[in-house]
Amino acid sequence: MPELPEVETVLRGLAPVLLGRRITKLEARRPDLRFPLPERFGERLVGQKIVGLERRAKYLIVALSGGEDLVMHLGMTGRFTIQQGAERETPGEYAHGTGANPAHDHVVLHLSGGTRVIYNDPRRFGFMVMMPHAERSDHALFRDLGVEPLGAELTAEYLASRARGKKVNLKAFLMDQRIVAGLGNIYVSEALFRAGLSPDRSASSLADRRGAATERAKLLVPAIRDVLGHAIDAGGSTLRDYRDANGASGAFQNKFAVYDRVGRICAKPGCGGEIRRAVHAGRASFYCPRCQR
Ligand SMILES: [Zn+2]
Repeated sequence: MPELPEVETVLRGLAPVLLGRRITKLEARRPDLRFPLPERFGERLVGQKIVGLERRAKYLIVALSGGEDLVMHLGMTGRFTIQQGAERETPGEYAHGTGANPAHDHVVLHLSGGTRVIYNDPRRFGFMVMMPHAERSDHALFRDLGVEPLGAELTAEYLASRARGKKVNLKAFLMDQRIVAGLGNIYVSEALFRAGLSPDRSASSLADRRGAATERAKLLVPAIRDVLGHAIDAGGSTLRDYRDANGASGAFQNKFAVYDRVGRICAKPGCGGEIRRAVHAGRASFYCPRCQR
């Protein structure tokens, strides 16, 4: 499943193609993905100019000149291909080691200038919805989302205020989309390793008795930013390498310190601990029991 860095990579790949273009035609080759496609989908898109493109959590949001937003989620296997003349390019490709089967090309946006943006999704867990831009923050998909992990709102004080008195462990706390939006399993494990914090530690330890941020909260914020920034810099191709390698050694594994590294020796110089796997709220956590406390 694509996590935030992969979605950000897709966004950066799509931005130069989409921004400022007009949608000239829509091909919706089936009525639904995970949910039905928007009503009168073509009518609402064709003729609209694309005036903005942004990411919120793992949603890609296309702002249209008429005041509506097209909100897209890649689900498990969604991806975009950009076709300009005979050339094809897939920004942030990660989900398939080989070329996409055109049978799963479900939605095609034709843009002014002749470019086509093709949405392919074999498992169809992705979706597209439309809503007025002005109502987006109140929409069910967005209203309960926590802060962006790369935004200025993520501070040690914010984490402390949300963690104070919480009875959950740090892993569950950071996976909670109402606290930090868009953080998933891989990057929570990696951020906790960087911060030297155990996934089992109580989230309440991010705040002191008066509710102020502890040293742990102050370590966690840069750890989250660093691990996401590093993954974005590496591009979505890191996950493609992972899929291709299929368990064999590959570039992807080398980029991560704990994720999927059970039994390996901890990467922290001088630690010597052995990476372990544990299950928290049904999801695997990877951590070093020696240097993560
Ligand atoms: Zn260690």
